[in-house]
Order: sequence, then C-alpha cells, then structure tokens
Amino acid sequence: MTSPIYVTQPDLPPLAEFMPLLEQIWDSRKLTNGGPFHQRFEEALATYLGVPHVSLFANATIALVTALQALRVAGEVITTPYSFVATSHALLWNGIKPVFVDIDPRTLNLDPAKIEAAITPQTTAIMPVHCYGTPCDVEAIRRIADDYNLKVIYDAAHAFGVECRDGNRLRSVLVHGDLSILSFHATKVFNTFEGGAIVSPDARTKQRIDHLKNFGFVNETTVVAAGINGKMSEFNAALGLLQLKHVGRAIERRGEIDAQYRRLLYGIPGIETIAPLPETTSSHSYFPILIGAPFPASRDAVYQRLRDAGIYTRRYFHPLISDFPMYRGLPSADPARLPVARSASERVLCLPLYPALTDAEVRRVVEVIRSFMPQPAPVGSRMQIHAGLDIA
Ligand SMILES: *Cc1c(COP(=O)(O)O)cnc(C)c1O
Repeated sequence: MTSPIYVTQPDLPPLAEFMPLLEQIWDSRKLTNGGPFHQRFEEALATYLGVPHVSLFANATIALVTALQALRVAGEVITTPYSFVATSHALLWNGIKPVFVDIDPRTLNLDPAKIEAAITPQTTAIMPVHCYGTPCDVEAIRRIADDYNLKVIYDAAHAFGVECRDGNRLRSVLVHGDLSILSFHATKVFNTFEGGAIVSPDARTKQRIDHLKNFGFVNETTVVAAGINGKMSEFNAALGLLQLKHVGRAIERRGEIDAQYRRLLYGIPGIETIAPLPETTSSHSYFPILIGAPFPASRDAVYQRLRDAGIYTRRYFHPLISDFPMYRGLPSADPARLPVARSASERVLCLPLYPALTDAEVRRVVEVIRSFMPQPAPVGSRMQIHAGLDIA
C-alpha cells in the first residue's frame, strides 16, 4: 500500500533547532503579552517581507476582525464569495453587511469592473482576497477606492512572500490597500502552528491595532476600546522566527512542484491552470486546476477517483461563501449575479502541494487524472497485429 497524500502537509523546522528557543522561554517565564520573541519576530518578519509595520496575531480571523475595527469600517463592505469563509465571517462579527461581487475568470480575484455597480451610500470599504496568492488588480481597486472614499483591506492569507511590480522594482503585494492580513495557520505556506498578522502603512495605525489586540489597553489603567485578546504567544513567535530561516527553501521546492504539475498536465483537454501574472513572484501556496468540458469526467468524479487512490485533494472554494446559510439570503448572494464564481467553484480542485511532496508522488497524482482520458487506440491495434504475426 502506498501512503496517503494530503492536499498539504505542514512544514516544520528540525525539532533540535527549536529546543534551545523553548529553553529560553522556560528560563524567562515570559509566555505572552509582547515578550522578547514576539518583538524579534515582528521585526524580522517586517524585514523579510519588506513592509513597514507588522502586528502579530493569534490567528488571521481575529486579525481580520481587528483590522475592520482599527479603520472603523461599518455599513456595507464589498467582498468576494470565492474565498475561505473567515473573510466574510469577519464582517458579520463587526455587524457589517457583506456585499458579494463576482470574480475575474483569469485570476479568480474580485473583478474590479463589477465593483462600482455594487457601491451604495452605505459602502465604506472593499475587502478583496489575493486568491491562491495571485495579486488582485491593486491599481484598479485603488482608483475605485479613491473615487468613492472607501477603505481597502486585503485578506492576504494566501499571499505570504508574494511580490509584484511597483514602479521599476518588485515589492511586497502587502503594501497595497490600507491594511493586509496574513495567516500563519498550519495549512499555509508559512506557519507558526496558528498565527496571523496585520501589515500597516504607518506607526500610528500599528499602535491602534496593537491596542485593539490587547483588550484596548493603552497602559496599565486605560482602556480606549472594546478590544479583543488577539495576541500571539511566545511559543508561536519563537517558532515563527525559526521558520523564517527555512521558508525560502520551502517556497523554492513548492515552485519546482508547481512547474512539474504544469508540465505533466499541459495539453490535457479540459484541464485549466491559473496562469502566473507577469512581473509577479509566487509563493506557490496552492495548485488549483479547473476541470470542465471537454474533459471526460466531472470535477467530483476526479476528486473521488483520487480519493480512492489515497490522494486527498480539496475543493477550495466550494461551496461559495454566499451559499452558506448565514449569507445566502443577502441580495448579493443571488447565484445569478455570481456566474464566474459559481463556475470556478464547480470546477476547481486543489492538488497536493507541499515541500515534502516527491516528484514520484506528483506523477502519481497526474496519472490518476490522466486515467480518465480515452486510451489511444493505435497502440492496441498494432499489438494485435504483432500477436497475429507471432502466431503465423
Ligand atoms: C486560512 C484563511 C483565513 C483564516 O486564517 P486563520 O489563521 O486560520 O484564522 C482567512 N482567509 C483566507 C482566505 C484563508 O485562506
């Protein structure tokens, strides 16, 4: 029996490298509340990503909730139905009404051409997602936000380490918009077991966020807002500091696997991949394929045959967020208004992608997909001729 292959496998540093850091935590008895590892990891992360300010969080969902509060977003927010459900949940947690807008079929990101029609006097912000790490059309979104005086909060949970052209150089995609939110969940490209962060453009915004993630405390006796407990612990921060040393190599290996998938899947009719954008780096956080005619089987049939072969792919993002019970009653959740998202959601399959995946395992995945293709007839018939000749 070959061992099962899952869609992802968390990347961890050698345990021996982590032990000395744990000993330091044990010695200091500083477990949380902005201890030394928290401070060091925050600075190291800002440097690694090339962004001005980072606030660490216990997870990205609390970070999204806090980001909306930091910018005092209320009323209606335009967002994508094609994402992980936490994107919209953060709006509901703030009593904000999500307004779903359809996605671009090439990038599967919020389609800027469809945003303006969804703006009402209640709209205060846009919350797009860099889906699978493909950068949104940040310039078009910025223009709309400027025209209508809207905030832009990027859910950048998939975009760790992604850079795109800014003037005449490559720069982190996380500097766009008013705030960007990262996730360091176990399943993401860069993990701290659980964790997240907000990237802010200036020290004042970072300070407000840091107050909000600590119950709203600004000093021992003053509380300025109904903040939450969103702090990252020293354990997670120490791990993050160590993970930063290894993530470059991990992203490199992900890139090799991505290239191998593209090579092996190339030319199969009805299998589409997401083309990388020009002048953009990728961290290869996911490998989605879209399965449709003329491929001879449905997405769900492929998903099932892979499962039967011990390969556990995921249908990210199916169902759409707008299909869940707490959203589907919204006027903007009407399936007729979201045809591109619907079609992607029905066709998408995310293939296994993680640094420890071997080339042989990648071939195994693609062989199962190829097994749906009709066998080329000439091979069989030629063999019959040979058999006949042998008998003669
Ligand atoms: C993973 C993810 C989140 C939530 O991140 P957590 O750190 O698990 O809270 C939010 N948005 C998107 C798009 C995600 O993929």
